[in-house]
Amino acid sequence: MNYLNKKTVEDIDVNGKRVIVRCDLNVPIKDGKISDDKRIRESLKTIQYLIDKNAKVILISHLGRPHGKINSKYSLRPVRDSLEHLLNISVKLSKDVIGTDSKTLISSLKNGEVVLLENVRFHKEEELNNPNFAKQLASMGDIFVNDAFGTAHRAHASTAGIANYIPSVCGYLIKKEIEIIGGALQNPKRPFVVILGGAKVSDKIGVISNFIDKIDKLIIGGGMSYTFFKAMGYSIGNSICENDKLDIAKSLLEKAESKGVKILLPIDSVIASSFSNDCDFKIILVNEFPQGYMGMDIGPKTIELFSNAIKDAKTIIWNGTMGVSEFSNFSNGTLKIAQAVADTDAVSIIGGGDSAAALEKLGFADKMTHVSTGGGATLEFLEGVDLPGISCLNDK
Ligand code: AMP
Repeated sequence: MNYLNKKTVEDIDVNGKRVIVRCDLNVPIKDGKISDDKRIRESLKTIQYLIDKNAKVILISHLGRPHGKINSKYSLRPVRDSLEHLLNISVKLSKDVIGTDSKTLISSLKNGEVVLLENVRFHKEEELNNPNFAKQLASMGDIFVNDAFGTAHRAHASTAGIANYIPSVCGYLIKKEIEIIGGALQNPKRPFVVILGGAKVSDKIGVISNFIDKIDKLIIGGGMSYTFFKAMGYSIGNSICENDKLDIAKSLLEKAESKGVKILLPIDSVIASSFSNDCDFKIILVNEFPQGYMGMDIGPKTIELFSNAIKDAKTIIWNGTMGVSEFSNFSNGTLKIAQAVADTDAVSIIGGGDSAAALEKLGFADKMTHVSTGGGATLEFLEGVDLPGISCLNDK
């Protein structure tokens, strides 16, 4: 699944048309104030393009989890205010989603004007992908543009169902994800290296299975490496481990070996006496793991091993931190691997979620080719699973 043939907003005439844009404007809000407007800023490119092309722009988004009920706590009002400020134009917010207020506002829209519909998850039909609700949404526009990559793995009425009724294309955010991640999946420049980390193997089994016969090297760090070590018969002390995934870990290792894929696991670890930043910690070889400690980060020998393996890569996909990078004493592995990735001339793709946040905090986000804007959606894209919010869009 690479979606490289999907139509984009540039492939369709939007002049004078009512264009419904599904954005991901689900920003964190505290005491009525937006604490991080990143998602709104990321959505601006598509919205501004449509304004410049004289479309009548109708924005749809969800915010939080109102569980299908109207709840003023989850109103998009602060988002509307932020959009007005960032776009420097007036943006009307409808009082409803498919009711008389939204219809009245849309019918009075002039070319280049923008209306934001109230939180689409105020209707339980949204997450149920109710066909009648999707049809009513579609009836308010002439064209559908999906630009909400973060919800592209969900088949909801405003992310997928709506595309059954009107011409549907992707916006710039999804276009970029398709071009970079889809491009790497379709035709990776080699050597192709995948780096996985984070807490759990279970989160990444799908990714490993999808990549195991497509890549040249698989690097496994972070908490998930201890499940592999236990499966290999090593002692891992109190390290994080999924005991119900030992068989899967073992069979993945065997599969990699039979396919000739090189799997690199840590050779040393930074271990701690408790899960905190301020505790007794030391470096050990993984085959000499003492009781009473837990693995918190990769050690210096592993940093060298992984960095060498990354050096000549031409495509790198990275998802999951190398250690508990939220704690400064255990962020060194993630930092050094970020440096090694940044030093290559590879196409470097960072899976969203925690990995993206960690790299941003460590100051490396802008040194990567692409930091994906999705969490679950990115993982499912990497797993090769169908993304209903993209597969529903028209082909070129
Ligand atoms: P992910 O969401 O998959 O990117 O995983 C990131 C999370 O994995 C972070 O919250 C890290 O604290 C956690 N993590 C990484 N290494 C370890 C480890 N050795 N022990 C426990 N948690 C870890």
